[in-house]
Amino acid sequence: MNPAEHPLDGSALMLEESVEELYEDAPVGYLSTARDGTILKANRTFYALTGYDAVALVGVKRFYDLLPPGAKIYYETHYAPLLQMQQDVRELALEIVRSDGQRVPVLVNAQLRDVAGEASLIRLTVFDASDRRQYERELLQARADAESRAAAASALQHVSEGVLLVDDDTAVVVLNPAASRILNVGAREAVGKRVGSLVPGWESVVSRIPVGRPHEPATSVVLPLAVAGDTRWVAASGEAAPDGIVYTLRDVTAERRLEDFRDDIVAIVSHELRTPLAGIYGAALTLEAHGDSLGEEQRRNLIKMIVEQSGRLSRILEEVLMTQRLDSGDLTIQRRTFDVREVLARVIQSSASWQSALPVHVAAADDGAAEGDPELFEQVLVNLLDNAMKYSPATGDVRVRIERHRSSIRVTVADDGPGVASEDEERIFQKFYRVDPGQANGVTGTGLGLYISREIVRRMHGRVGLLPAVRGATFFVDLPAAQ
Ligand code: ADP
Repeated sequence: MNPAEHPLDGSALMLEESVEELYEDAPVGYLSTARDGTILKANRTFYALTGYDAVALVGVKRFYDLLPPGAKIYYETHYAPLLQMQQDVRELALEIVRSDGQRVPVLVNAQLRDVAGEASLIRLTVFDASDRRQYERELLQARADAESRAAAASALQHVSEGVLLVDDDTAVVVLNPAASRILNVGAREAVGKRVGSLVPGWESVVSRIPVGRPHEPATSVVLPLAVAGDTRWVAASGEAAPDGIVYTLRDVTAERRLEDFRDDIVAIVSHELRTPLAGIYGAALTLEAHGDSLGEEQRRNLIKMIVEQSGRLSRILEEVLMTQRLDSGDLTIQRRTFDVREVLARVIQSSASWQSALPVHVAAADDGAAEGDPELFEQVLVNLLDNAMKYSPATGDVRVRIERHRSSIRVTVADDGPGVASEDEERIFQKFYRVDPGQANGVTGTGLGLYISREIVRRMHGRVGLLPAVRGATFFVDLPAAQ
């Protein structure tokens, strides 16, 4: 049998060939160099990686020559000494300059081999790390993206503007805390639900919110939204997003109330100030033109009218100013001990000059020492007495009581007027509220007196309210008793 035909010999040959191929086409570049780095042998993968062939490299270049300047320094300061000391280095990240000048990131393992009787060799494996670098870069980018998304999400948590992202089906995708406050829905429960099912008035307003194209936000519009049994004014605008719409919402209820307040002031000024002004002006003109020919009593009446109407004017102005101070928090309240009976006596004495005073009957306890601000409390009493007189019939009287309770001093002011219907009991303490705004009963007023009284007393830790009465109205004020 021909030995060459022996099946084992044939397979041995094939094995040898495939080992050679394995070496040549391995997924890593193999390189053997002399101790000084001169290239002695390399596989095809290495040639492909560097763009050189055997002629250009073997016996001609050192591994060192293939490195860019920075890596050359690293090679000399780290790689060579390390190899010398440890016999091998692992996973060194370097770059190789290809024949076309391009740089390729590589990972290098090197081993110093002492071949018996021969000069020692260095075996290197050179792994093309371009993919890995790319992967690392993508990983870093992904991390940076995630971080910036997390930062954006955290910013969204803290902005004062409400942000609401809905999908094409109008279901909530994102609802930040500000939006959750404005719309009065919990962010967690809202996600995935239609806005219309969460916010009752939404369907009727959403069609009026302008929606801009991506990156072109529309100018916001102010719309009323019924939230938690109240009307909330919201400045809203939308912007188209890839899979839905982002709405920006801002609660402008406070600004709106201020605007309403200004409108009310204008209405009050035109309505309430005009009458006393006309009276003053008319009386003054008459005095100027005919003063000499008027009788003594006529003259006195005109002057009295000027005094009364000026007083009315200044009270209206005082009320408007006081309301503004209360609303802006610009009112300092003193806290000291004073005698409620003394303040009452002062008010009744001076009331004769600004009211055609009805009889005022006072029943006072022995102890009237309260805590609070006496000047401001005086205004409260003036308001209550003024109202009692204004709304009483001409023949009525006004009854004031001062009582000492366990920890408070109570002042009640009772009259014989029409009283207050139960549905108005709370409303009369609201700003500008008047039961008879058309003044059909001939009684004028701004609707601010009781609002101011309640706000002042509240700030003194007391209470103002109405007591049940058989006839007329009975208002009470409680102040903390002096300790
Ligand atoms: P005004 O300047 O209109 O008197 P107030 O705030 O003092 O403003 O009072 C608000 C409303 O409460 C009044 O318009 C009136 O309808 C009602 N009111 C206040 N006091 C009395 C009272 N003693 N008797 C009946 N109604 C009253």
